[in-house]
Amino acid sequence: MATGRLAGKNAVITGAAGGIGLETSILFAKEGANVLMSDISPAALEKALAKVKQLVPNAANARALPQKCDVSKESEVKAMIEAVDAWGGLDVLFNNAGIMHADDADAVDTPEAIWDLTQGINVKGVWFGCKHAVLSLRRHKKTRASIINTASVVALVGAATPQLAYTASKGAVLALTRELAMVHAREGFRFNSLCPAPLNTPLLQDWLGDDKAKRARREVHFPGGRFGEAIEQAHAVVFLASDEASFVNGHDFAVDGGMTKAYVTAEGPAAAAPQ
Ligand code: NAD
Repeated sequence: MATGRLAGKNAVITGAAGGIGLETSILFAKEGANVLMSDISPAALEKALAKVKQLVPNAANARALPQKCDVSKESEVKAMIEAVDAWGGLDVLFNNAGIMHADDADAVDTPEAIWDLTQGINVKGVWFGCKHAVLSLRRHKKTRASIINTASVVALVGAATPQLAYTASKGAVLALTRELAMVHAREGFRFNSLCPAPLNTPLLQDWLGDDKAKRARREVHFPGGRFGEAIEQAHAVVFLASDEASFVNGHDFAVDGGMTKAYVTAEGPAAAAPQ
């Protein structure tokens, strides 16, 4: 019998082929959850599943959704959620898939197509996940559940980097998550947002490229002088998914090394400067 902080919970993770989604899949498996990993790229997902099985050979149950799930397509999200019916229905959903497009820019230069694509995946995808999670939870008569939606620190503080479509999409994630938390609290379904600060993941790497000066200019915003790691987000998601967080609902959970609390000077956060 599985043991761990998530033992017996049936979990679905979107965008599980890499970054935060993969690290969370590994931790969920370690903590005894039954994990269904899903992604728009089944080939990448197969490799990710192999990594989970290699790192957690005793995983109670980890599998990859064989068909692609593009979270912006409702029929594919519905099929993903229904894939855990055989396990007894969903308990935890981590709506994590998201994009930040290279052509995302400021109010003047963001192409309308990039705006629509970003909202389609980052906002509508989260809505579809929440919708089919609620339908599944009711169908299976669940009285407690945890849904975690990935937003970003850009939804909490203004960022000078122009990525308007992305920022707006993550703000929408916070707002819809809060409302769902209120609407479904009496059913025992908790909804929280995860707000990661920039991390060392492929998404960030694509954005920074090999520009060391650009990286240094960003790192100065962190009190600890470094970006976060995906595993540090995954630990927070385990907590939010677990019954340890039974009274945590509607929260904007910033896992950011203190970045959103820092007053930044050219040398680094003012708090670190000699007085
Ligand atoms: P990542 O690029 O490493 O992983 C994202 C995954 O989502 C990929 O496996 C990709 O194939 C998948 N994906 C993309 N479009 C999809 C779609 N339409 N349907 C289903 N899957 C899709 O990125 P990550 O950094 O792990 O990002 C995960 C989440 O964290 C995203 O929502 C992102 O916006 C958010 N986030 C990331 C950072 C960061 O610095 N990396 C910071 C704040 C928030």
